[in-house]
Amino acid sequence: MPKILESATFTLGNGKPVKIPIGQFINNEFVDSVSGKRMDVYNPATGKVIGQVSEADAADVDLAVKAARAAYEKDNRSWGFMQHGRRGALLNKLADLIEANQEELAAIEATDTGKLYKDAYSKDFAGVIATLRYYAGWADKITGKTYNVIPGIHAYSKYEPIGVCGQIIPWNFPAAMFSWKIGPALATGNTIVIKSAETTPLSALKMCEYIKEAGFPPGTVNLITGLGYTAGQAIADHMDVDKVAFTGSGPVGRKIMETAAKTNLKRVTLELGGKSPNIIFDDAKSAKDAAEWAFFGIQMNMGQVCTAGSRILVQEGIADEFTKEFVKLMESVKLGDPFDDSSTHGPLNSSVHFDRVQGWVETGRKEGADTPVCGKDMRKELGGGYFITPTVFTNVKKDSQILSNEVFGPVVSIQTFKTEAEAIAEANRTTYGLASAVFSSNNERLLRMNEAIRAGTVWNNVYNFAHFGVPFGGYKQSGIGRENADAALFNYLETKSVVANMGYVRSPYASL
Ligand code: NAP
Ligand code: MG
Repeated sequence: MPKILESATFTLGNGKPVKIPIGQFINNEFVDSVSGKRMDVYNPATGKVIGQVSEADAADVDLAVKAARAAYEKDNRSWGFMQHGRRGALLNKLADLIEANQEELAAIEATDTGKLYKDAYSKDFAGVIATLRYYAGWADKITGKTYNVIPGIHAYSKYEPIGVCGQIIPWNFPAAMFSWKIGPALATGNTIVIKSAETTPLSALKMCEYIKEAGFPPGTVNLITGLGYTAGQAIADHMDVDKVAFTGSGPVGRKIMETAAKTNLKRVTLELGGKSPNIIFDDAKSAKDAAEWAFFGIQMNMGQVCTAGSRILVQEGIADEFTKEFVKLMESVKLGDPFDDSSTHGPLNSSVHFDRVQGWVETGRKEGADTPVCGKDMRKELGGGYFITPTVFTNVKKDSQILSNEVFGPVVSIQTFKTEAEAIAEANRTTYGLASAVFSSNNERLLRMNEAIRAGTVWNNVYNFAHFGVPFGGYKQSGIGRENADAALFNYLETKSVVANMGYVRSPYASL
C-alpha cells in the first residue's frame, strides 16, 4: 500500500485555514497515489490555486476495488453481511459528525465550487445530513416477498447487495451527490469506490475523515480523486466492479455504458441532465409568482443544475407581463464573493466551464435570438473569478442549437405558445426528459399536463424542488434508473428468488 499522506492546510474563501486530507481514501487511510502525482485545487471565486490533492490512475482504482471487495466478502464484521441495523447506526453517526462540522464543511464546499456559503450550509449540507439519516432508516427495513402460487412449492424473494459499486459524481453539488450515492448503496450493504470530480474533491475528502471516525469498517467506502478519462474510466473498466452509478454529461454516460457492455456487464445507472421546460399558462396564480419560480429555476446554483428550467414556455396572454417581471429579476443578480452575505450569486465552477457557457451565449446570438439580458464576462471586474451575468434569449428560432443543448449555466430562453396542445408538443420536443414544471391555477389542466409531459419529474406551481424522499431521474436520454426515496435502493440490490419443495412435489421425470 502506498504511503500515508498527512492532511494539508487550505485557506478557504472566508480566510480560515482548514486541514483537509489530500490522499486517496483506501481502507480507511489517506494514502498517496501509486504515481505520486498531484492535481491543483482552485477557488473559482478568485481563479487561484489554493492547494493540491493526490491524483489517482488505474492502479489506485485497482487498490480501492480490492479494498472494497475485501470489505464486502462474507464475514460477520464485513459490510455486506453485517447486522442491517448496525449499518443504519453507522450512517446516523456519520450524519451526526457532518452536522457537528456543518459550518466548516459548507465553507469548504463554497470555496471549492463557487456556490454561496449560505446555500452550501442551509441547502446542500442540510440535504446531505437528512439524506444520510433517511437511508439509515431504510437499512433494516428492506424485506422480500413470498409467492404462494404453486401448490407444494414455497417461493420467496430476497434482496441482496450487488457487491462493489463504482460511483462517479459531478462538480455542481459535490457533497449532495456524494450523499445521494453513498446513502442508498450503503443502506443496502454494498461497498463503494467513489470518484469526485476533478474540480471539486475537497468536501468528499473531508467527509471521508468522518467516515473513518464514525467507525465504518475499512474498505467500506473508498474515495478516488483523479481525472475522469483516467481514474473514472478505470472504474468503468474494472472487471471486479459490479455496478457503476454515474451523474454527469450524456457523452460520458454513453461511454460508461459502452465500457460496461465491453467488460463484465456491470449494472449501470445514469443521471445525465436535461433541457427542462417550465410552462406558464395565462391562468397561473400571477405573473410575478411564476417569474419568481422561473428565476429560481434557472439561477439556482448559477444554472449549474441538471434540472435547470432552461426553456420557459409562456402563454401569449401573460407573456409580456411575465417577461417584464422575469427580466427584472434576472437583472437584479448580484454576483460576488460566495462568503459575502450581500451576494446573490457566485462564479461558475471552472475556467473550462466558463468558456463553455460563454460559447453558448455567443451561439445563441449568432443564431439570431434577441437578448433582453445578455451574459457579460465579469472576470476582470470581480478579481479573476469565473463570473458571468445571466442571459435571456427571446425570439428564438425553432431549430436553434440553444433550444436543444444543455448549457448548464445562467442562460434561458423564453418561447410563447397559444394552446395547451402547442405547449405539450414543444415541451416534449427534446431528447431529454429529466424535469419540467407547469404553472396554472386550473387543477384539471395540471392533471392533463402531468400525464402528457415525458419527464421524470413534473412540478406544479413550484420549481427545482428535488427531495431525498421523492424519486428522481430521467426519461429518454436524461438517464437510466431513479435516485432518492425507496427507488434508489433498487439501484443497489439484486433480487434472489428461492424456490423450495415442501416435500411432495415429484420430478416431472419421476415416473418415466
Ligand atoms: P462530465 O465530464 O460528464 O463529468 C462528470 C463526472 O464524470 C466527473 O467526475 C468526471 O471526472 C467524470 N468523467 C469524465 N470523463 C469520464 C470517463 N471517460 N469515464 C468515467 N468518468 C468520467 O461532465 P463535465 O465535463 O464536468 O461537464 C460537462 C457537461 O456535463 C456540463 O456542461 C453539463 O451539461 C453536464 N453535467 C451534468 C451534470 C448533471 O447533474 N447531470 C453534472 C455535471 C455536468 P472529471 O471531473 O475528473 O473530468
Ligand atoms: Mg475547485
